[in-house]
Amino acid sequence: MTERALDHVGIAVHSLDDSLPLFESITGGKGYGREVVESQGVEVVFVGAGEGRLELLAPIRVDSAVAKYLARRGAGMHHLCYRVEDLAAELARYRAEGAQLIDEAPRAGAHGHRVAFIHPRSTGGVLVELLEAAHP
Ligand code: ZN
Repeated sequence: MTERALDHVGIAVHSLDDSLPLFESITGGKGYGREVVESQGVEVVFVGAGEGRLELLAPIRVDSAVAKYLARRGAGMHHLCYRVEDLAAELARYRAEGAQLIDEAPRAGAHGHRVAFIHPRSTGGVLVELLEAAHP
């Protein structure tokens, strides 16, 4: 099996504007790639460099998954995102292992990437996002 690189760590926040300065201070970087991801009911912004970069996620609707997460657990670490070469094949592998998938098929994530989430019940309590990249 090919080892996978981390793409980013997702952090759930109540407000991008309020939280970005703190994470710019932590990472030493400037926020970039701010974008509304309508399908997931979130607005995201990235900060930091390389595989240690962070994706801050703030809800744009009260019924979004991130809004529910914030209501239940408060702000904090939300997910780990790994790069994979063939997302459909990875989902099939997880399915064959009996894992619970949040996304049965790849969907559009931030910046036009194809992504899918695996339920934390199947990943040791950690929400895992898979992102299809040509060179994982
Ligand atoms: Zn992410």
